[in-house]
Amino acid sequence: MLLAQAGPLVYHRGPGFGDLMRRLTDGLRTLYRTERADVLLLTSSGTGGLESAIQNCFSPGDEVLVPLAGFFAERWKRLAEAYGLVVRWTEQPWGARVDPRLVADALAAHPRVAGVLLTQSETSTGVIHPIEPLARAAREAGALVIVDVVSSLGAVPFAFDDWGIDVAVGGSQKALSASPGIAFVAVGERAWAAAERARLPRFYFDWRTYRTFAALPDPENPWTPAISVLQGLDRALELYLADGVEAALARHERLSRAVKDGVRALGLDLFGEGEADNWTVTAIRAPEGIDADTIAARMREDFGCVIAPGQGPLKGTVFRIGHFGYVSELDIVQGLAALEMTLERLGHPVKRGAAVAAAEAVFGEPRA
Ligand SMILES: *Cc1c(COP(=O)(O)O)cnc(C)c1O
Repeated sequence: MLLAQAGPLVYHRGPGFGDLMRRLTDGLRTLYRTERADVLLLTSSGTGGLESAIQNCFSPGDEVLVPLAGFFAERWKRLAEAYGLVVRWTEQPWGARVDPRLVADALAAHPRVAGVLLTQSETSTGVIHPIEPLARAAREAGALVIVDVVSSLGAVPFAFDDWGIDVAVGGSQKALSASPGIAFVAVGERAWAAAERARLPRFYFDWRTYRTFAALPDPENPWTPAISVLQGLDRALELYLADGVEAALARHERLSRAVKDGVRALGLDLFGEGEADNWTVTAIRAPEGIDADTIAARMREDFGCVIAPGQGPLKGTVFRIGHFGYVSELDIVQGLAALEMTLERLGHPVKRGAAVAAAEAVFGEPRA
């Protein structure tokens, strides 16, 4: 993948680029599980894709609802507020799973809500939110369903068409493990209709311009895209899809369970509700008396193993292990070994090899 993006660039107004665009959008539609949505490729990180959804779907003063339960839900709220939308929200603690009944009640209390802004994988807590029932509640209330799938697309099940999603925003650098720089946005019919009515200012991210260029005999991007990142993403999708989506999802489930069983075998507590479904990131409570940031720092310094500290209110008490994307079983075993040794060096006694053994037990299970 890195080699693919180090190669000569395909000129974005010349031969070969249309084929690249077609391969990328077809591959991404497979990941989104959609036959009916258009997939647009924007040159930006994931947040740019989220911003495009606000600009293209709404008008000043429109009401939206954000179910709050972590850092990325709060980003949705700040983004909508920055564009002058009226933001309603439900509030649950960080680490909770968003409760669809709470959202349905809030929609009943605020009948003017035009869109519900959801996050499938709340990367700050590791929690996977129940998008299908949340989308149902939003549609029953006549609101657009807009989902941040930046850290979840490709790592956990998602079904754009079957779940009645209107917009879903992903990014190149998470579960596909390509380089950062491309956001992709799946746009369904109801969202296209909203884009025609919306009056918020937009230019670079105007979805209608992307659609016009995508409809050329050889599809193009309206502006000069990050061509090298697109070439890397092309290779990443090819690797991802080689064994099919189901196999990739099963791999994510296995990696996640290995990490969770391993961590529990060290006597540590997991953080976040619905842990069996949380296949992207495992959030872990630091043992009493040990700072979570120190664990992350020592893992990096002593072993070159990069894990994430806690964000917001979880800083210092929670650390996170990511296990989505191009991650192998050996990566997990090594990471758990590094965690065992780090905890021991920080004065927290562990049974040596316990986490590694638990992970190997998961990887040793017979495969279907
Ligand atoms: C990483 C991430 C984003 C996007 O962040 P960028 O730095 O803009 O790519 C958005 N939402 C979630 C849930 C994420 O994990």
